[in-house]
Amino acid sequence: MRIFFLAFLTSLLMPGRSNGQKNAQEARLAIYNISFGAIVSGVGSVLTEQHGESVTKAFLKGIKWGALGGGFVYLGKKTSYQINSKKQMLYGWPSKFVHDFGISIVENAAKNQEIFGSFRTNVGFIKIDISTQKHFSIHPKVMPFALGSFIYGSIKSKLDLNKTILIGTPVFKANKVFLQGDLGLAGYNTIYMPDTLSYFFYSVIAHEHVHILQESQYFSILTWLRPLHNKLNESKKFTIYKKLEKYFYLDIPIYRIPQIFMNYSSNCFYRNYFELEAQHFASNSYIRKCY
Ligand SMILES: [Zn+2]
Repeated sequence: MRIFFLAFLTSLLMPGRSNGQKNAQEARLAIYNISFGAIVSGVGSVLTEQHGESVTKAFLKGIKWGALGGGFVYLGKKTSYQINSKKQMLYGWPSKFVHDFGISIVENAAKNQEIFGSFRTNVGFIKIDISTQKHFSIHPKVMPFALGSFIYGSIKSKLDLNKTILIGTPVFKANKVFLQGDLGLAGYNTIYMPDTLSYFFYSVIAHEHVHILQESQYFSILTWLRPLHNKLNESKKFTIYKKLEKYFYLDIPIYRIPQIFMNYSSNCFYRNYFELEAQHFASNSYIRKCY
């Protein structure tokens, strides 16, 4: 996800007129994240139900836990403001863990599994699955899109190890030619930042960090494919799936799909919902859709 300089600058210089506007936008974002979790878990719970529960009961059960998970997702995104306000990238870790704790609840509810029985988070191109169901176990899996992005970044640029460790997501140094006028870039669990520190550095990296969270939030929709996953896993014809599934997590970037339908331009940059959300949480201020 790109961030355009002009849109970014105007969002800082022309904040909303009142606290009321900011609070109303904050409330809408909270409702969106809670509803997102509720819908993903509600639908997933119906699709994966195997104990003879009615559709209504399975749906309501999913909604209840999904809304709770969505609440944590919101809190995780909100914590990303600390990166900017405290000028401290280490806040990327608690922000990511609270967010991923929420997404794990959403996914577990969608899969009809023990709600607090497992926790997943991303470290670079590895998805780590920690489970306490039956017995304690840790399953690391490679995310192919994130791995491709990491390799691409390593060839085209240079990993900034210090920033990577501090924020908890691979950060690559990028020069002006690479960024093509953007202040930063994020996608496939990779962040690109300018190789020189700008005045806006912490604000931009907090914004890009929110994009990374959005990306992993949308992976939870993949739980709807669980019935297909179970069929393929049990299939005697496609044994390759079971073998690959053991080592790989298919990190399809589905959060890019809704953006195809968003009608935004450079002067109405924040009509792109994901950009608006990232900038709101990074700056803790009201963001206008157009300037
Ligand atoms: Zn952005």
